[in-house]
Amino acid sequence: MQIINSIMHMQALAIAPERGGRRISFVPTMGFLHEGHASLLREGRTRGDVLVLSLFVNPIQFGQHEDLDRYPRDMDRDCRIAEACGVDIVFIPTAAEMYPAGFQTGVTVRDISLPLCGSSRPGHFDGVATVVAKLFNIVRPDVALFGCKDYQQLAVIRRMTADLNLPVEIVGMPIVRESDGLAMSSRNAYLSPCERQSALCLSRALVKARELFGAGERSVPELLLATRGVIEQESRAVIDYVEFRDGFLLSEQQVADGNTVLALAVKIGQTRLIDNCVLGEEL
Ligand code: AMP
Repeated sequence: MQIINSIMHMQALAIAPERGGRRISFVPTMGFLHEGHASLLREGRTRGDVLVLSLFVNPIQFGQHEDLDRYPRDMDRDCRIAEACGVDIVFIPTAAEMYPAGFQTGVTVRDISLPLCGSSRPGHFDGVATVVAKLFNIVRPDVALFGCKDYQQLAVIRRMTADLNLPVEIVGMPIVRESDGLAMSSRNAYLSPCERQSALCLSRALVKARELFGAGERSVPELLLATRGVIEQESRAVIDYVEFRDGFLLSEQQVADGNTVLALAVKIGQTRLIDNCVLGEEL
């Protein structure tokens, strides 16, 4: 396994003539890897000849008062996990090289970036789209894998890739959960043991909504009331948003169907967690 820090070096490898017909599969992450990231890497391994993982805590997707400085990092552990998942190249650029003095270009994916996390975290998806576009140009992947855990992010990246005719196949992967239902996230490391228990209200809310949907409930106001109710029972939980939206366009809906996505963002103490499910799909 090779570790590469320089953009030029990574790009040179990606476009080298000796790449021949070899397919590059790519998993971009912010590191502090867990089983969710590993599932993307294992799938990536089967879809390409050269598997590239990037570790980069992207400063431009964090708001001023967000957790950029304390975001968990452990490069050595990440590299061990990467090796075990069959990664060929770990790309770890520096922020100074990604965003040198004078940097001023950004990618904005308009409507789909606005609701949900885009409304609570203004500018977040511009930061995501910009870094992913840059990484695609550096790594030149044939296929890139993203988790449905970040549902809106995946929708934004799919839109950007289609709109800009980027020659990359985008693969969405299922959410990996702990055995008690909590969606795996690097940010779970922030939770105290009590908060970790409280955080289960997110997956409980998803289960409740799917139960009601399964029993025939289609009214979004009714589903919303029941879903919010589950979270509001948890005293440490503060709802950022709970929304039912069309799973493709993320537009508002009054009547749910099998493609409706329930998206949640909930603060447990200082930690903001997100989760989601598509009502017609298995959790
Ligand atoms: P992050 O390091 O949090 O930026 O995530 C990197 C990639 O891993 C993104 O495509 C995420 O959607 C994906 N990911 C994060 N958590 C999970 C999870 N629990 N299950 C599946 N994919 C995940």
